[in-house]
Amino acid sequence: MRKERLRFAPSPTGHLHIGNVRTALFNWLWAKKTGGKFILRFEDSDIERSNKSYEKSIMEDLKWLKIQWDEGPDIGGNYGPYRQSERLDIYNSWIKKLFDKNRAYYCYCQDEDLEKMREEQLKKGLPPKYDGRCRNLTPLQRKEFERKGIKPAIRLKVPEHSITFKDIVFGRQKIPKGTLGDFIIMRANGLPTYNFAVVVDDILMEISTVIRGNDHLSNTFRQLVLYYYFKKTPPKFCHVSTVIAPEGGRFSKRHNFGTLKNLKKLGYVPDAIINYLLFLGWSSPIEKEIFNIDEMIEIFDLNKLSPSPSTFDIKKLNWFNHHYLMKIDSSKLFENYREFFNDEIV
Ligand code: GLU
Repeated sequence: MRKERLRFAPSPTGHLHIGNVRTALFNWLWAKKTGGKFILRFEDSDIERSNKSYEKSIMEDLKWLKIQWDEGPDIGGNYGPYRQSERLDIYNSWIKKLFDKNRAYYCYCQDEDLEKMREEQLKKGLPPKYDGRCRNLTPLQRKEFERKGIKPAIRLKVPEHSITFKDIVFGRQKIPKGTLGDFIIMRANGLPTYNFAVVVDDILMEISTVIRGNDHLSNTFRQLVLYYYFKKTPPKFCHVSTVIAPEGGRFSKRHNFGTLKNLKKLGYVPDAIINYLLFLGWSSPIEKEIFNIDEMIEIFDLNKLSPSPSTFDIKKLNWFNHHYLMKIDSSKLFENYREFFNDEIV
C-alpha cells in the first residue's frame, strides 16, 4: 500500500465539532493504515474570524482523543509553516506564476457592482456568476481605478471547459462548461482565498488524498482549475457526508453535545467518541462494534464510506460510552469523573 500524506485543515474559527472530529479521525486512520503521515494545518487566512484561542482548543481536543499529528504548527515538519497566515510570501509567488502565464487579472469591482450584476443576471433567469468585466482592462483604465484609491482583488481566468473528477465517496462529479465564473484568488486586502491557498498548500505539502466535509465538494471544481494551470496532478478527493442533528438539520448551539468540549464536559470518554465516530458514515464489513485503535486502523477503508448524511445518534454514543466507562478501573473512574458523583452517592 502506498504511504499517503493526509491533512486535517480546520479554520480556527470555533471549537471542534463532531463533524470536524470525524474528518480528523478518518484522515488520521488512513494515514496510519497506509504507514503515511497526518498533518495538521490551520487555515487562518480569514483573519477577522480566526482566533489563536481556537487553535489551542482544537489541538487540545485532538490530543485528548489521541489523534496526534506528525507535522503541524506546534511541532513543525519539513513542509511548513503549517499556518496559512505564515505562508503569505509563498502565496504571492504562486500568484505571480499565474500572472506570468496570463491566467490571472486585477479586478476593481466593488460589492455594489457585484450585487447589481447578480440581480441583473437573476432577472434574466441566468445563474449568477462573475461576468469577466475586468478581464481586459487597459492599463489606462486600471490607472483610473487606482487613482480613485480602489484596491484590486485578483481573479483567476477560468477556462470554458467542463470539469469532472471522481470522488471516492460521491463518485463521478461533473459541471458543464461555462458554469464557473472567474473567481477571486487574492482579496483586495492581500490575503488569499480558501480555494487558492488550499491548492498551493496541498501541492507543496504533497497531500495525496484530501478527506474533508462534503460542503467542499463544489469547491473542488475551482481547485481543479488551479491544479490544471499549475500543471500538477490533483490529489484523490474523498468528501465525507454531512453529520446531521438527531431531529434533522444542522447542528446548532442548542445541541450541547455538538462540540467536543461539551461532550467532554458531559462525561463522554475519548475511546467511546472515537469508536462511535468510526460508524458515522462508515459501514463495517464484519459484525462487530467495539474496536480498539489497532483494529480500527486495520479495518478502516475509505471505499466503505457512505454518501448518505449520517444522523448523530446520542443513544448509540451512550451505548459506546457505557461500554468504555465499565472498562475503567473504579478508583480511576472516581478520580477522573469526580464531578459526576454527588455527595449522597459518595
Ligand atoms: N478550512 C476548511 C474548513 O475548515 C478545510 C477545507 C479543506 O479541508 O480543504 O472547512
